[in-house]
Amino acid sequence: MRRLVATGDTNVGQVRKGNEDALLVRDSVYAVADGMGGHLAGEVASATALEPVEQLDGRIFQDDAAAVTALRDAVVAANQRVSQLAQENPDYRGMGTTLTAALVEGRRLHVAHVGDSRAYLLRDGQFSQLTDDHTLVQHLIDEGQITQEEAANHPQRSVVTRAIGVSEDVDVDSMSLELVPGDQLLLCSDGLTGVVEDQRIARTLMEGDDPDEAVATLIDLANEAGGPDNITVLLLRYEDPEAAQPSSRTISISSRVESDDRNWAGEMGRYASLTRGGPLTPEQQEEEGRSAGAILGRASAIVIGLAVIGGLLFGGSQFLLSRSFFVGIDGNQVVIFEGINRQVGPFELYRVTERSEVALDDVQQWYQPQLIAGRPAADLGDARALIRNLPLRTDDGEDADDLADADQEADEEDGDDPADLDADLDEDEGA
Ligand code: MN
Repeated sequence: MRRLVATGDTNVGQVRKGNEDALLVRDSVYAVADGMGGHLAGEVASATALEPVEQLDGRIFQDDAAAVTALRDAVVAANQRVSQLAQENPDYRGMGTTLTAALVEGRRLHVAHVGDSRAYLLRDGQFSQLTDDHTLVQHLIDEGQITQEEAANHPQRSVVTRAIGVSEDVDVDSMSLELVPGDQLLLCSDGLTGVVEDQRIARTLMEGDDPDEAVATLIDLANEAGGPDNITVLLLRYEDPEAAQPSSRTISISSRVESDDRNWAGEMGRYASLTRGGPLTPEQQEEEGRSAGAILGRASAIVIGLAVIGGLLFGGSQFLLSRSFFVGIDGNQVVIFEGINRQVGPFELYRVTERSEVALDDVQQWYQPQLIAGRPAADLGDARALIRNLPLRTDDGEDADDLADADQEADEEDGDDPADLDADLDEDEGA
């Protein structure tokens, strides 16, 4: 008798006031959604997106194709509901959500996915990310413009290139695979993966026998790392004590470009090997970094590339713009931009969202180039704080003390590692 143990939890984290994540744990369907948009809109978006998925619970499907189609249709329906709400209600304009949904029927697992929440599979000590992130940084990695390590601290790492509810159409990734006893499937929001290393996550899943405890530990780890975002963790454990050898270990994946069964795991080499306990040697770490880097940029590069451009030009820009901020100048005025400090062809990927009382001329000269280049902020609050703490010129003119104080203040207020921000500025200037 097979047994599927499902458990999950969501946590507001240490920084955010509300929790815009949502999760669904039923008998045969499971999902994580990470909503965005001000004034409760993010919560509405994520909760609404789960509804069509929930309606699939307990349904029996004739075959794999029927199950995958139903799951994909549920994600499409989620997109329609959220985008319709966003259109009808001005408070909800620009809201959106990620959606990573799983349907289990017998041994078969189906996953449908949009956005940057993730599905991972832990099998035989191998931890594998099943889903592609639909994010700008993933696109930049695929393009070879930044490394995985740079992506982890990139100020625009939360910018998604595909989401539920931002336009009338949505591209849905989906995949199917056969579960084998001992498998653990993890669905989670970026509040976990943005701050806790894959290695650490996998080790937590391997070490604990109690799923509830594993979920709690993962949330604790994210909070201990600062908890900058809402954290949602959903864990499925597939146990089958009576089964003999698993009948098949073939994993297939399908996306909108590659729709049929492929030996995905073998081809992509995406598994990162893990051994219980003990940290990896530097060689192992390097090896893993290489294999992870090597697979990115193959299958998904074109899809994501098209999605980025498509999303920007045809309706997705609202969403892209709504998740990222930087402080810069408009004429001589210091302003907060929403969007990405970048230009694609003739298109600016940013717009002014808030103006300040501060003129560029008021700012100490040494700091002005940073504003001209654009200074990344984690969110709107961070951007406002950055402006509040700008090193301003005094009537006496600048002296060395002012300069040092202001520098320190600006760095303290930043939250992010100043070195990373500076590195990014350099990159932007070069681009
Ligand atoms: Mn999030």
